[in-house]
Amino acid sequence: MVLTQVQQLDEGSSYTSSVFASRYVQDPVPRYELGTSSISKEAAYQLIHDELLLDGSPRLNLASFVTTWMEPECDRLMTETANKNYVDMDEYPVTTELQNRCVNIIARLFNVPLNVKEAAVGVGTVGSSEAIMLAGLAFKRRWQNRRRAEGKPYDKPNIVTGANVQVCCEKFARYFEVELKEVKLREGFYVMDPEKAVEMVDENTICVAAILGSTLTGEFEDVKLLNNLLTQKNKRTGWDTPIHVDAASGGFIAPFLYPELEWDFRLPLVKSINVSGHKYGLVYAGVGWVIWRSKEDLPDELIFHINYLGADQPTFTLNFSKGSSQIIAQYYQFLRLGFEGYRNVMNNCMESAKILREGLDATGRFDIISKEQGVPLVAFSFKERDKTLAFKFSNLLRRFGWIVPAYTLPPDLENTTVLRVVIREDFGRTLAEKFLSHVKMALKELDSMIRAPVPTIRYTIEFGPGENAGDEPMVKVVKQEVGGIQKSVPLLSGKTKGVC
Ligand SMILES: *Cc1c(COP(=O)(O)O)cnc(C)c1O
Repeated sequence: MVLTQVQQLDEGSSYTSSVFASRYVQDPVPRYELGTSSISKEAAYQLIHDELLLDGSPRLNLASFVTTWMEPECDRLMTETANKNYVDMDEYPVTTELQNRCVNIIARLFNVPLNVKEAAVGVGTVGSSEAIMLAGLAFKRRWQNRRRAEGKPYDKPNIVTGANVQVCCEKFARYFEVELKEVKLREGFYVMDPEKAVEMVDENTICVAAILGSTLTGEFEDVKLLNNLLTQKNKRTGWDTPIHVDAASGGFIAPFLYPELEWDFRLPLVKSINVSGHKYGLVYAGVGWVIWRSKEDLPDELIFHINYLGADQPTFTLNFSKGSSQIIAQYYQFLRLGFEGYRNVMNNCMESAKILREGLDATGRFDIISKEQGVPLVAFSFKERDKTLAFKFSNLLRRFGWIVPAYTLPPDLENTTVLRVVIREDFGRTLAEKFLSHVKMALKELDSMIRAPVPTIRYTIEFGPGENAGDEPMVKVVKQEVGGIQKSVPLLSGKTKGVC
């Protein structure tokens, strides 16, 4: 999306420089207008390739959950299938079948109550954002249908979430005209409080959205407690308020690392779950999933039916055409890794997160805000209550190539600034150790930039003449606590002083 103005500094800047590619192109190539003539494929490649060199390195981007490495075999599959449109189900029935397998695999991973022969209800999306829009629409429509049947007004739907909610939920609320009711956060408690959420539920609540893996801190919200409290409230009021779980980041963590944790379809009020295939599903950007508990939870009027080969192919997506490479890559990962493979990858990520957490803690400068259980990330803030430190520190780390975001927390914790390092599969032990050593260097630089010199110990070596002429000179080490760093070395007659 372009909201900013195009760069129009001077005549030259509206052209893409062709200096390096000048063996292929002689004339400058316009930047914001279609060129009048064609250029060779070599030149086009070189120009774009070179300009992209100025992007950050995806592998050093510790800000994002989204996959930045896949096996070359999978890269190959993705390139081979780049020309298949996902929506052409008649033409590509095998791709459609692979999507359906993925939906079933994920649904069963999330303990959907189905027997072996039953097909799961769900769809592949562009990411969790589209998945959440679809899940939200299903809740809204279900609620409206019920209210209409009861002869009650159905024009003021709301959704209850924590203030830590991801932006896509806010988008859903605004785009589809649903009021967003947020439970505020408080010091030391960075996720939705289920009790407060249930208090906020009223007859117009289409669902409570819980997050498995809060974007800010990676923490899992207590979906089981929410389910229990909401069940009681539903019983008391006669309402039927359901739960959606936004498992964008945690959906591929919990089943492998915490199989006993009940957060999914094992809880009766959980009617739909979304997960990002391109996060811990281990696929490059462009795939998410939404799974419904049963057909009853997805109103039929939202589904469009396509018939092919005599079978009914239901579809429910916001957009029509899109690539199928990511869907195929998701199936590759399921086939290739199996339960064991995913568990190993997630275990490794957790190990790296532990090393980072301990290393950051050992500097004595940070409060660690993320929990040990959750998504493999470390969220931390400076112990000093200076809101600007985190932003300065983030800039300093950028000089080493690391991209570590700093952000303020949502209400009521706007005064806390947090830094977050997300661990992905390709962030190995060596990188973790390197990162920690850069953290220490950046801390030193931060201190020298903005703080009064820290008290240091100064050792002074003093050389004096020996007691008798001809003796070896006497050496004395003097230890002193000093405020700053001594910059000059005074030379006194007969004595040499040095600071070390
Ligand atoms: C990343 C994330 C989203 C958005 O997911 P996309 O797949 O990037 O669209 C939604 N909710 C949570 C909790 C997330 O972490």
